[in-house]
Amino acid sequence: MKNIMFIAPPAAGKGTQAELVVEKYGIPHISTGDILREISKEDNEIGQYVAETLASGKLVKDEITYKLIEDRLKKDDCKNGFIIDGFPRNLKQAYEYDKILKKLDYEVGNVILINIDKETLEKRIVGRRICEDCHAIYNINYKNSSPKVDSICDNCGGKLYQRTDDNLESFNTRYQMYLDKTEPIIDHYRKQNVLKEVDGNDTIENIFKKIDNIIKN
Ligand SMILES: [Zn+2]
Repeated sequence: MKNIMFIAPPAAGKGTQAELVVEKYGIPHISTGDILREISKEDNEIGQYVAETLASGKLVKDEITYKLIEDRLKKDDCKNGFIIDGFPRNLKQAYEYDKILKKLDYEVGNVILINIDKETLEKRIVGRRICEDCHAIYNINYKNSSPKVDSICDNCGGKLYQRTDDNLESFNTRYQMYLDKTEPIIDHYRKQNVLKEVDGNDTIENIFKKIDNIIKN
């Protein structure tokens, strides 16, 4: 099967869709975040550098990220397809990713863009409430995912809270950053005729059906 790259704005449900693809097709989900966390546990120079950089909240140097991604994609489990997640983050990285793929004799495959209205994302993020105790997730902007009693968890009676970055201001910043960094990547892959667009203003099941149709073809 073809390799897959997902592009989607924050809170578009990209992670959920990736999980569904993994479940159905059994291909590895290559997340740069996971790779870095794994490496940071290793007792060597790169491990130490990554651990320190992550702890300080800074970004790991591009050259290191490229090397780690190449090493991961070289592994046997990627030969029959993989999902790349969290990379490339900007146009420069997209060019570098193309080079890595070429070197490994892989194709970029399907670049799946999940399009979704800004208002929908806003409602999802700003309305999100999480249980302090069992971590169940609710959304007060949607009737079928609101708690029965205001601010109380249906499952365990715990108190619900809002994550500090689940507010309008933080969402707007993240969304703008997504547009600035991602639009050029979208154009880049559109020119290569590998971009597949999916309407994400839909249920998880329906979005997956659309994605599955792309994968199967
Ligand atoms: Zn709870």
